[in-house]
Amino acid sequence: MKFDDVLCPFCGCLCDDITVTAEGGRVTGVDNTCLLGTSKFLGDNRLKNPIMRTDDGWKDVTYDEAIASTLDALLEADRPLLYGWSGTHGEAQCIGVHMAELLGAVIDNTSSVCHGPSILAIQEVGHPGCTLGQVKNRADVIIYWGCNPTEAHPRHMSRYTTYADGYFLDNAFRDRTVIVVDVRRTETAELADVFVEIKPGGDYAVLSALRAMVRGRDEMIPDSIAGVSKEQLRHIVEICKNAKFCAVFFGVGLTMTRGKYKNVRNAIELVDELSRHTKATITPMRGHFNVYGSNEVNTWMSGYPYAIDFCRGIAFYNPGETTAVDILARKECDAALIVASDPAAHLPSKCIRHLANIPVVQIDPYPNMTTAFCNLQIPVAVSGIDAEGTAYRMDGVPIRLRKVLETEYPTDTMLLGRIYEAMMEVRGR
Ligand code: SF4
Repeated sequence: MKFDDVLCPFCGCLCDDITVTAEGGRVTGVDNTCLLGTSKFLGDNRLKNPIMRTDDGWKDVTYDEAIASTLDALLEADRPLLYGWSGTHGEAQCIGVHMAELLGAVIDNTSSVCHGPSILAIQEVGHPGCTLGQVKNRADVIIYWGCNPTEAHPRHMSRYTTYADGYFLDNAFRDRTVIVVDVRRTETAELADVFVEIKPGGDYAVLSALRAMVRGRDEMIPDSIAGVSKEQLRHIVEICKNAKFCAVFFGVGLTMTRGKYKNVRNAIELVDELSRHTKATITPMRGHFNVYGSNEVNTWMSGYPYAIDFCRGIAFYNPGETTAVDILARKECDAALIVASDPAAHLPSKCIRHLANIPVVQIDPYPNMTTAFCNLQIPVAVSGIDAEGTAYRMDGVPIRLRKVLETEYPTDTMLLGRIYEAMMEVRGR
């Protein structure tokens, strides 16, 4: 069977032009994907059934036994944490929020360790964003700040920026100017027209200088800021002010360095400043394919995008106190459900050490670093391969994930739905 126009469920680009060939219950070929997407579609090291850790090692268990064990772990806990959610579809994320409310749990997603600061900044000053389609067809100046799409979002430049045709650009490739701002010369920087190398931690100062120069306050700026010469800053300001449409993209190189959400706020305010001269927009480079969706679903269900604590019976949100990292570092949490993410790969070691000492249930199709210490892992269908659902692209556009394989695995929605229903029964709801 051949399927056209399939979505790639790997990164926030959500490329929707993939052709997939499937045969005998396996994906046998893919076209148009990058290496990351190809490895996701062709990956075949999936767990066959739920596995439970015992004193004698791993033991195969049935889905019924796995659900019963998950209920025991979560219902007996005083402060359960439901973490992850960025690699599954919106329908499953909805059940997660209901479950957190029922349990009085904390629910958090991976944005608390990537673009959480972007959300805080957007809550303060708004988001002058647009769709990737607008960028592709209109933008003649692209700025990549603190991100490296060549390695993290490999088709971003060919689909939406540097190498993409633009409806309103005669010769898009020649007409576009690409500026890369980073602390080291990345592969993306090699492809840029202008590379600005700043000292680590210097983003806030450079953004402030650019804002002042766009305002015409050159005289305030010293000869060099965070390793960038005034001359180069002036050059960038001229390029941006003379653009017809300037699109800024930023990554964790901006959100997770010194200044964090203040950096992003400053970048948004630079875009506001540029909008006095031309059209300008800004977009976060979201990593997991549906981390944006997780923020959306949480927000329309609870009012908050991540780090939501239901222990008071209502939604409470205070990043820095209710994020997974804080709850784990304070050793508050006494059981965890991990869905569609791999915290062992990206949380601080202090948090991982605590996770290794409490009951952890992981719902994920593949063994990963978290498997090394979880007590139970339940495999599910892979969203976008053998499960359909809704995902949000990095620009906030919801797109339907297609199902290209028939398998026996339950989807995240089915499995979480069963766990939630059993919880409601126990709690008499
Ligand atoms: S850029 Fe991202 S969404 Fe597109 S094919 Fe590669 S991994 Fe998949």
